[in-house]
Amino acid sequence: MLPLDRSNRLRESGLTPTIQRLAILDCLEKTTVHPTADQVLLAVRETFPSVSRATVYNTLEALARVGLILRITVDPAVARYDADLGPHAHFRCRLCCTVYDVVMDKDLTLNDNVHGHRVESVRTYAYGVCRACLQADAEKRMLKDSSKASTKRKQARSLPPNASTSPTKSDKENVSKTLSLSDSSSEEGGESPDA
Ligand SMILES: [Zn+2]
Ligand SMILES: [Zn+2]
Repeated sequence: MLPLDRSNRLRESGLTPTIQRLAILDCLEKTTVHPTADQVLLAVRETFPSVSRATVYNTLEALARVGLILRITVDPAVARYDADLGPHAHFRCRLCCTVYDVVMDKDLTLNDNVHGHRVESVRTYAYGVCRACLQADAEKRMLKDSSKASTKRKQARSLPPNASTSPTKSDKENVSKTLSLSDSSSEEGGESPDA
């Protein structure tokens, strides 16, 4: 979105396009993390170190009131803000609290008529455990399993050499395979929600 467009949209909404309002709108339009007011404050202070907390809070509320941004309540603890006005749903991870944009599973779009009501915004929230957290958990389990396997191997070693549980070469190979597998998957990492 060009700065001129932002100025015009602010004017059309009855707000004077001050530098700080433009900066806050710019900050929200460049991110997909659905920042809280405090996160917006930190980001805007990188360019305008003197901006006050009250200015950021009031601006966010004003922008939300005129419909230039959405104030979303997917996080029960804190309001978050979103400049993406297109129809989409929100998913919040209960482990890391990241809020993701997700496609809506319905065909409801903006300005649709539903029982005679005009839809102006659609907000659907989904809750659960995100992909990054599921992957981190799977890696943790894999490491735990492989350390259990190596403990078993040590115990088996202390048994007499002809005991039936003595480890074979292939056992060792399996363990090292598991380890290298978990190494490579941790390198892949999850898609970071940070923009
Ligand atoms: Zn998560
Ligand atoms: Zn969103």
